[in-house]
Amino acid sequence: MTFAELKELDSQYVIQSYGRSPIAVDHGGGATLYDLDGKEYIDFASGIGVLSVGTANPQWQAAIAEQAGKLGHISNLYYSMPYVKLAEKLCIRSGMAAAFFGNSGAEANEGLIKLARKWSWEKYGEGRGTIITLNRSFHGRTITTLAATGQDVFHKYFFPFTEGFRRADPDLDSVKQAAGHDVCAVLVELVQGEGGVLPLDPAFVQSLVKLCEDRDWLFLVDEVQTGIGRTGSLFCFQQYGVQPDAASFAKGIAGGLPMGGFLVNERCRKVFGPGDHASTFGGNPVSAAAACAVLDILDDEAIAQVKEKGKYLRDAIEAMGLPCLGKTRGMGLMIGVEVAEGFSNKELCAKLNQAGLLSLTAGPGLRFLPPLTVTREEMDKGLAILKETLS
Ligand SMILES: *Cc1c(COP(=O)(O)O)cnc(C)c1O
Repeated sequence: MTFAELKELDSQYVIQSYGRSPIAVDHGGGATLYDLDGKEYIDFASGIGVLSVGTANPQWQAAIAEQAGKLGHISNLYYSMPYVKLAEKLCIRSGMAAAFFGNSGAEANEGLIKLARKWSWEKYGEGRGTIITLNRSFHGRTITTLAATGQDVFHKYFFPFTEGFRRADPDLDSVKQAAGHDVCAVLVELVQGEGGVLPLDPAFVQSLVKLCEDRDWLFLVDEVQTGIGRTGSLFCFQQYGVQPDAASFAKGIAGGLPMGGFLVNERCRKVFGPGDHASTFGGNPVSAAAACAVLDILDDEAIAQVKEKGKYLRDAIEAMGLPCLGKTRGMGLMIGVEVAEGFSNKELCAKLNQAGLLSLTAGPGLRFLPPLTVTREEMDKGLAILKETLS
């Protein structure tokens, strides 16, 4: 089938809810991909931060094949070895106490919201279900996680949204203004991803944690994009020197298979009892086996390299001095690049995609999320395309 035929079929049979690039990726290896015509692309997008160990990683493939040949699904009414092993690995490396697994980032954040509300209900009773979230945040596409999302563009058409969210700017005074007797938790991304790769100020985060302690609010962190090594530590909160009450994860956890979930600390481990929360596919053995392989591949050494690779890319991009680009920001391999006035990030991104460098936008800028296993050679190829295309 040619690309033109595929595109025609898509427009006939698929709900057109995505603004897609005119590219059909067919296969690849690591951070190198090929479309239907065999054209090569360097992957600085990872399927939006999902392909944490690259495309077709052999160790990841073997783990999936082995588990699929043994047991592809079993409901959570039974014990499951991959589920438990994955929970153990995550808890040991994060310092958290226990894990729950679902299928996506939005579902993971729904879990955090339910957790905070039940925790508060049991301690304080009704009327304390409000959660403070930050402007420019993104927490998902379900009705409730859209309500939690701090960007007005998402708050149309789908009324009525879930109540019980209040927004603040990322500064302590603004959060204090949003405070009230009805609040039970604060939910933040430590580096706002979709909002434009905006890292929160560490001093603000530390004072926010202190405020949560003073008011007895849960401190919830959305690590759907930042988690699983993306920022140069297994979880971003480890670099901020704070321990949340609960943290969600998804995108990179299973290296391309659908999985999300959340970790809780000791204080929250007993909030959910049997029947309080569930997910039919959650922690599916194949996804869990893939995630265990991802965590084995992303050992401490591999994650330490994420910081170096991120610095290498950012230094190289800034050294190009391209007139259409400004400063870079971010942490590890979560990189945002400012777009200069008069240029459109969407147009620049489309040009890069066409030229063979798969790229993303975030807020008004560009965003690069290469696989964490990206090689020096792949980075250099990507940088060369960037320079040639945008010069
Ligand atoms: C992508 C993302 C989500 C939503 O994840 P889905 O798997 O698409 O539901 C939520 N929060 C953050 C920070 C994200 O980057």
